[in-house]
Amino acid sequence: MSEATFGASARSSVPSEESTRHFEPLLRPVLADLYARRAGRLRDLSDQHDLAEYLRLCAHICEAQAHCLDEAITAVTHVDPAAIARTGGWPKLLDHMLGHLRPQVPDAVKPHLDTLIAMSEADRRDTAQALAEGRFSDADAATAPFIWAALSVEVSQLARIIPLPEKGEEETANCPICGTAPVASLIHNADHEGMRYLHCVLCECEWHMVRAKCSNCGDAGDLDYLSFDTPEASIRAEACGACGGYLKVISQERDADAELVADDLASLLLDDAARLEGFGRSGFNPFALPVGPTSQN
Ligand SMILES: [Zn+2]
Ligand SMILES: [Zn+2]
Repeated sequence: MSEATFGASARSSVPSEESTRHFEPLLRPVLADLYARRAGRLRDLSDQHDLAEYLRLCAHICEAQAHCLDEAITAVTHVDPAAIARTGGWPKLLDHMLGHLRPQVPDAVKPHLDTLIAMSEADRRDTAQALAEGRFSDADAATAPFIWAALSVEVSQLARIIPLPEKGEEETANCPICGTAPVASLIHNADHEGMRYLHCVLCECEWHMVRAKCSNCGDAGDLDYLSFDTPEASIRAEACGACGGYLKVISQERDADAELVADDLASLLLDDAARLEGFGRSGFNPFALPVGPTSQN
């Protein structure tokens, strides 16, 4: 295991595994708080950022998600994102979100919202199902983040009312509640200080995984921690020589204001650097979905 930095040569000690103290294997953060915190962090990070306008648009989307909480939810016993894409109430949430967003977004974004408003429910559901099933090339880059955001609000709320899965299933590469990939892993402060949780990109739940092992394949023997400037950076890419994958580790111990989705999105240059080193990302960001190009028609 080693630390590599881009722009500095210092090394630091690698993270130690947390002790065997009591911990909760699954966390379900309160959605209203999470959306507010994410929107605020996106705005803070947009200051002087190359992607400032996009980060602020994403903040608006998070606030629109918060606005339509508690709508269109029907009780379920388990969370199946593809089934929810086909039959769930999220298209109504999308309409609500679009109504909230339209007066706030830059003029350049309005045509994409109009495309979504005009889109038939069948087309919306086809896109949502493709996203839920990981068929990203079947979705349009300009409209996918909005459809994903509305689907995510419904899936996230359902993930908070179902019984939790049996204990012991927490250390999986994908979310034990909905099966989706993680956006990144978070080293917590406060109540779960020093513990690492992976955060689901769709249902916004977190599941525990010990530190210093690959979140993708579980190997602990060949990990590099890539970061800019200093090995003590709050955002590092945990890159695995065994599977060739990487995912960012974002530390609230090092930056108490860090928020996974926002900080990951604002640090896409680190993804470029990790890819140049030959690693492939094992998860994705809801605002940087690995979708196809924007259609021109
Ligand atoms: Zn999930
Ligand atoms: Zn691996």
